[in-house]
Amino acid sequence: MSRVLVLHYHEIWLKGGNRRFFLSRLVAAVKRALAGLPVKSVVHVSERLILSVENNMDHNLLLERLRRVFGIAYIAVAEETPLELPVLTKAACDIMVKKNPRSFAVRAKMAAPNFGMNSMQVERELGREILQALRARSSDVRVNLEAPEATCWVEIIPERAYVYTERVAGAGGLPAATAGRLVTLLSGGFDSAVAAYKMMRRGAHSVFVHFYGSPGPSKSSSLQVAEEIVSTLTPYQFTSRLYEIPFDGAQRQIVAGAPERYRVLLYRRLMARIARQVALAERALGLVTGDSVSQVASQTLHNLATLDYGMDLPVYRPLAGDDKEDVVRWARQIGTYSISCQPFEDCCPRFLPRSPAIFAKPEELVHAEARLDIEGLITSSLEEAKVVDFKYSGGEVRRQPAIPRRLQKLVLRRKTADGQIASQTHEGNLEQEGPRDRVEHAKADPR
Ligand code: ATP
Ligand code: MG
Repeated sequence: MSRVLVLHYHEIWLKGGNRRFFLSRLVAAVKRALAGLPVKSVVHVSERLILSVENNMDHNLLLERLRRVFGIAYIAVAEETPLELPVLTKAACDIMVKKNPRSFAVRAKMAAPNFGMNSMQVERELGREILQALRARSSDVRVNLEAPEATCWVEIIPERAYVYTERVAGAGGLPAATAGRLVTLLSGGFDSAVAAYKMMRRGAHSVFVHFYGSPGPSKSSSLQVAEEIVSTLTPYQFTSRLYEIPFDGAQRQIVAGAPERYRVLLYRRLMARIARQVALAERALGLVTGDSVSQVASQTLHNLATLDYGMDLPVYRPLAGDDKEDVVRWARQIGTYSISCQPFEDCCPRFLPRSPAIFAKPEELVHAEARLDIEGLITSSLEEAKVVDFKYSGGEVRRQPAIPRRLQKLVLRRKTADGQIASQTHEGNLEQEGPRDRVEHAKADPR
């Protein structure tokens, strides 16, 4: 008998023709997550992964790493036995005697058609033996199928069986980096970190963009908070890139050059346009924000529709229908809660208007920014961006400055005559933004 980890995956079996692709990504993610630990093998058998490790290995360490692998529904530390009923029965009795519950149930999962017993027969047979073993110690032990104090799980596959009493919930979702890239606008608050996580959990690889202002005397910079959040989220997708973009200058121009009531919407729209350029450079397929409908004035349905007007990339808002409590629960679970709780200088609420626009129309925003050099602001912001790469390996996240060559080329192009002509075409007409940038996208150099 030896101890193994049984990993059950999530939803992947639904994927028909793509199953092999998802499975190979899952196996790769499991191996990557466990890098540096003495894992002997990761084998895919009968719709589960079986992980063999050195016998003296600390399973908590393994579970801690595996908890962050998307695509896993649950994990069990199990005894592996040969497929012989007496050996299996003894293993099940030993485990349950050790557990010593007052009530129990046996649940069997069968994936060995030639075993000669079905799951109900296995459950009955083992239940009887376990009851006898437990009653030898205490006479009031009962079988309780509805609400047992302990469950003895048995999984039978060709030639082997697995027995365990605890299941640890996995991260669920789909394996990392199976869906393409998205650019997350990460503020440092609770919402956008959770929004990124939810999209990552669906297989999207998140590139992060954070806009920061210079901190006041009582608060620290949001940059540090954004970096900590990215660092916390990186184990889920193994690598991350964070674009850090100063926003003071752009905010000052908006405050000086546009009507007060549209300020926040103009900040947000400019952020999205800059993030869109990052998406072009990163070959990302959409943006992600932490907007939750009607949470603040800028998030009314009218304002969200206006913010997206003319945007030629999808903007995902995975928290649109969530309450703050839902978001906070997620933030605690994924480890970003305490980071977002720190007092930091959030640039978005700066110079808040006394009476912000609640039902802004697209043409009102176009009019409001008519005196601003939006294209110039986008270019200068991109030019000032600093980029940090994060890499998770051996249980640690390491950071290092990156040189985003594709973004540099994109900035260069924007500064050439071509870019200037494009920006003139754009002026005052949001709808023209799409085709121009599609051309730009097509011209983007491979990294
Ligand atoms: P969060 O908790 O993510 O800050 P929020 O509910 O506080 O969200 P806002 O501050 O209005 O709402 O921001 C809405 C969304 O705009 C954020 O979720 C985020 O995606 C984006 N955003 C706001 N500020 C920034 C920033 N400084 N840098 C990058 N994105 C930002
Ligand atoms: Mg915020």
